[in-house]
Amino acid sequence: MKVSGLTFAQLKKWVAVDLGMKPYRAQQLFSWIHLKRVISFHQMTDISLSARNRLDRAGEITALESCDTIAADDGTVKYSFALEDSEVIESVLIPDPPRLTACLSTQAGCRCGCTFCQTGRGGFRRNLRTDEIVAQLYGLQSSSTDRITNVVFMGMGEPMDNFPALRDALSIISDDRGICIGARKITVSTVGIPGGIEKLMQLDSQYGLAVSLHSAVESTRLKLVPVAKALPLRELKRDMKDYISRKGRRITLEYCLIAGINDSLEEASALAEFAGDIECKINLLIYNPVEGAPYRRPDIESVNRFMHYLYPRCQAVMLRRSRGSDIAAACGQLGPAVRND
Ligand code: SF4
Repeated sequence: MKVSGLTFAQLKKWVAVDLGMKPYRAQQLFSWIHLKRVISFHQMTDISLSARNRLDRAGEITALESCDTIAADDGTVKYSFALEDSEVIESVLIPDPPRLTACLSTQAGCRCGCTFCQTGRGGFRRNLRTDEIVAQLYGLQSSSTDRITNVVFMGMGEPMDNFPALRDALSIISDDRGICIGARKITVSTVGIPGGIEKLMQLDSQYGLAVSLHSAVESTRLKLVPVAKALPLRELKRDMKDYISRKGRRITLEYCLIAGINDSLEEASALAEFAGDIECKINLLIYNPVEGAPYRRPDIESVNRFMHYLYPRCQAVMLRRSRGSDIAAACGQLGPAVRND
């Protein structure tokens, strides 16, 4: 059993039902794994030796060690982690004092095939398990003396396409018996797949939601995000509005500006209209070139024109610094094909 991927409720059940141990052992185990972050049952000194031996035979704690690290000039660090089947995934640590944000992956590769994204261009290999998602966070935390304050699921993969593992990872990460990163400090990003936002909405906590929109014109969005065919803009907007009203939280629209594709005033106007009646902030990003993709960065004049069109018309618009672009750790750049080793 991959014990570090069990939520507290699952752990309690495993301890009591599968191992026949006293239920309080679950609390001890959870605290050792997720608060003190030990990686061996034998380090759990308040558990008897015979119980530790038993746990060791029945379970495993997943720890990921970075096999490659690249630091960018802005302090962003990209970590590559090799999984037990030799898949390599990437996670990013982004300092932005007082915040320190971990960007985690949920899949090795991605099925969505967004045409501007390195991960999407590399295809899908497999879903990550909960223990592998959580272990990325602990791998990143062990490399920094500062506490990670925020988590974003914006690394490799579409989080909603691996929902059960995401759901359990969210539960573990936000559990106050463990590393305890509050739900409001955790953001799940999605391109919008049918039923995805709805499933996140069913969870009790108020996780942040970011939607990678990239265009409010259906035909442009389809070019960039082929899976958008399954969830047209009208339905995506309905899901977003439901999320906002259910959770009482504003959401984020991510919009990656690409020269000649979605940076025109017509596109800005469509975006303003789409976002006009949604409680949201718009994060504009400037496209980071990806090997083999037929896209270019827009020039600064187009970016300014686009922004200035939006400013008076939308509630909140930010031009986000693209962190780590010189090490291929920025939005849409993660993936083996761009490793700089
Ligand atoms: S942008 Fe996100 S959803 Fe689209 S292919 Fe890349 S990782 Fe997948």
